[in-house]
Amino acid sequence: MKIALIAMSGIRVADTELLEMGLTLPGFVERSKIIASLPSLGLLTLAGMTPKSHQVDYYEIADLQENIKGNSIPQDYDLVAISSYGAQINEAYLLGDIYHKNNTPVVMGGLHVSFVPKEAIAHCDAVVIGEGELSWPDVLKDAENKSLKPFYGSIDEEYDLNDAPLPAFGLLDIDKYNRLTIQTSRGCPHQCEFCASSTLLTDKYKQKPAEKVLAEIDAILEIWPKPFIELADDNTFINISYWRELLPEIKKRNIRWFTETDISIAKHPDLLELMRESGCAQVLIGLESPLEPPLDGLEIRSNWKMKQWTKYKDAIRTIQSHAISVNGCFVLGLDGQMPEIFDTVFDFVEDSDLSEVQITIQTAFPGTPLYKRLQSEDRIIEENAWHKLSLFDVNFIPKNMSLTELRSGFHSLAEKIYSEEVTQKRREKFKSQLRQYIKKHK
Ligand code: SF4
Repeated sequence: MKIALIAMSGIRVADTELLEMGLTLPGFVERSKIIASLPSLGLLTLAGMTPKSHQVDYYEIADLQENIKGNSIPQDYDLVAISSYGAQINEAYLLGDIYHKNNTPVVMGGLHVSFVPKEAIAHCDAVVIGEGELSWPDVLKDAENKSLKPFYGSIDEEYDLNDAPLPAFGLLDIDKYNRLTIQTSRGCPHQCEFCASSTLLTDKYKQKPAEKVLAEIDAILEIWPKPFIELADDNTFINISYWRELLPEIKKRNIRWFTETDISIAKHPDLLELMRESGCAQVLIGLESPLEPPLDGLEIRSNWKMKQWTKYKDAIRTIQSHAISVNGCFVLGLDGQMPEIFDTVFDFVEDSDLSEVQITIQTAFPGTPLYKRLQSEDRIIEENAWHKLSLFDVNFIPKNMSLTELRSGFHSLAEKIYSEEVTQKRREKFKSQLRQYIKKHK
């Protein structure tokens, strides 16, 4: 078969005022833009496990209307697989409809459709629910026999990362990317109420065998000799002994890399040293709130983050003293936050010496415990308003501030925290830490 794998890419923000403002502020929506420009690791993984008897092509569609106008929608395929985030899902559905009309079998997968499969099936021939690797071989077999079923897989099935295939990085036009992703784990022990990541697909913390991770880095090195790699994990350093063995091997590969973790890494200076030596440039940490009350009840299983918050500033300083930049993330609109939160976040960022900061608006993604709770409290503003799943739009009624206060507080904070002057000051402080580290390690 000739198979097209299509990732809906690009950034979407429904709040046009914020979008226009953000484009002029350094650092704002930067992380979202990076995410939007990453290739779809999910689709590349499916390509990697597709038998060689099939021809596979990989595409990204950033603006479907442009493709429609330019008549450049990939054509003449026996099967099309579409993957999309929630904010782009309406375009993914439109694309599915176009293929459906042309009698091209189309399958959709990803986190969003896994939780609204009955909605998605109206726009495609088959929906893959849960971890795609479990269903892809059956999808291929049935597509070949022209007998696709409407639904494959389930949220409850677990994929074993010991079986993980090598993603087909060779399909990429490498000149288009400034970073590539690999995945070393799925899951996160913290289970935050709003988290819309692999935690929705697995209760466990699953680690990929180290030799498979190294094979993926080696495959990237074949197409990109000095790569910047993003570990597409939700919380990387849960298994410290695994990393103590793996990082010296990564060091030999001479790469630079980025990942997402929690502040517990600050307790392990030897790990931080290994991370730095093996090319870690930055870690992104979900601090969520600089005050204790909003952290209470944020996690489903425990109050781990609430127990950590007094250590936040020391942990940031410790990590950055190893010349690893910390991108601290704050979520605005949490139930325990009052209108003062915007000033508190700004002051915390100034005091903590964070080198980078990311602010987002709490977003109720379908499938999350947050979505279910807000639904039961009648606080979802508009059901199925998926275009607002951008992390910069408000799709729920806040508890301790008005909608206007949340939106305008967020706008003002963004303007202040990402101003040229404040951003420059943050980055300069980190550069000076970097210089000190380099001097000490000469
Ligand atoms: S710590 Fe991060 S990855 Fe883990 S559950 Fe919370 S939001 Fe998700």
